[in-house]
Amino acid sequence: MRTDTAIIGGGAIGLSIAWELAGAGEKVMIIDGRSAVPRATKAAAGMLAPSFEGAGRHLLGAASAALQDFSLRSLRAWPAFAEALQGATGMDIDYRPEGVLGVAMDDAEADALSDQADAMERAGVKAERLDARAAREFEPSLSDCVVAGLFALEEGQVDPVRLVGALEVAAKRAGAEMRFGVVARLETTGGALRLRLAGGGFVFAERIVVASGAGAFAVAAGMPAGVVQPVKGDALALSHGAGGPARVVRGRGAYLCPKADGRVVVGATETAGSDRLDPDADGLARLRDAAATIAPALAHAKEASRWAGLRPGTPDAAPILGPLAHRDDRIVFAVGHYRNGVLLAPATARLVADRLLGREGQWPAAFSPDRFAERSPDAAMSSTPAAARR
Ligand SMILES: Cc1cc2nc3c(=O)[nH]c(=O)nc-3n(C[C@H](O)[C@H](O)[C@H](O)COP(=O)(O)OP(=O)(O)OC[C@H]3O[C@@H](n4cnc5c(N)ncnc54)[C@H](O)[C@@H]3O)c2cc1C
Repeated sequence: MRTDTAIIGGGAIGLSIAWELAGAGEKVMIIDGRSAVPRATKAAAGMLAPSFEGAGRHLLGAASAALQDFSLRSLRAWPAFAEALQGATGMDIDYRPEGVLGVAMDDAEADALSDQADAMERAGVKAERLDARAAREFEPSLSDCVVAGLFALEEGQVDPVRLVGALEVAAKRAGAEMRFGVVARLETTGGALRLRLAGGGFVFAERIVVASGAGAFAVAAGMPAGVVQPVKGDALALSHGAGGPARVVRGRGAYLCPKADGRVVVGATETAGSDRLDPDADGLARLRDAAATIAPALAHAKEASRWAGLRPGTPDAAPILGPLAHRDDRIVFAVGHYRNGVLLAPATARLVADRLLGREGQWPAAFSPDRFAERSPDAAMSSTPAAARR
């Protein structure tokens, strides 16, 4: 089997890239492990909230400013991306650009929100500061413990499960081929790139996009071991009764995302290095308590479901985008989107398509795979990823 571009991974990142490339007339094949290597995207809450998520937090060094710019660019690409996706498929992805409300429960948290508002204003991001009364008038579900709020007007959310479904349909309608299976090895034979599937068979490709999330395939493609690490996140959904939040609320110890189907997604724990997929009961109990402290009406809400997912983490919490300079430039990475892969999907897809199609621009140095290359210069080109053994 042959294709021009083989994309390993059918999560938000791989599917968005496939849709963009196929729409430009490229011959594309997505190879996805399905349940053999579960998608983080389906576990996500779907917040599009760069002011509260990732950008500016947990970050070490040079990637921080670049990630903030990239996050904002992607946030602002979301309206057109959602409209095009819903238009191409006729599917509703529950995209809600209705803002995200952060709340503070004490003076220290109120000061932190105020600093965040200052930073947002400096970056030209719309922010509205609310005192306790204004916050509760705006979002009546809030508890009396809330002392201040910050409303990020441009932010919002989407339903990630619906997003994946719509992206699959859109990519296929644009001409992309979808194949299910685990890629066990990447080989170069006589100059050609060859993917060996765990269940048998090969795919030959002119180039490869590694969009395998937290799966171990990145190592087989030349990324040093240990760079892309799973960060487990547990979350749950509550049946949304009367008095629940009307929009995304982020408070102490939890965020609340009301969905169109009446659920409120409450997230999320964070356990670095864990690749377990069984939800942690203690972590979920803490999330439930935190949710009820923020919005008391949720205290007796029935639990609809619980789950865990593996975020693709990196040492500096920024994604890895582009080829390794000292390796084969036909192998391009689009991994490590950590807590923000849903948010970053439109900007990532546009960037990867622009570079692969030879349009203007460059791979951003701050996200280069080479920033981690010295960790293990002899990382194997052909090795069996752990994902294939799971
Ligand atoms: C609890 C939780 C809440 C989150 N909330 C948010 C949020 O609100 N907003 C946000 O933006 N992000 C959020 N995230 C993060 C987000 O889910 C990820 O950043 C994003 O899903 C990564 O997308 P991806 O396409 O890179 O990876 P994935 O969605 O994991 O997709 C990777 C795909 O690659 C496939 N694959 C891997 N290895 C192989 C192989 N060898 N062969 C074939 N296929 C392979 C897998 O089957 C998988 O389908 C959250 C994550 C979690 C866990």
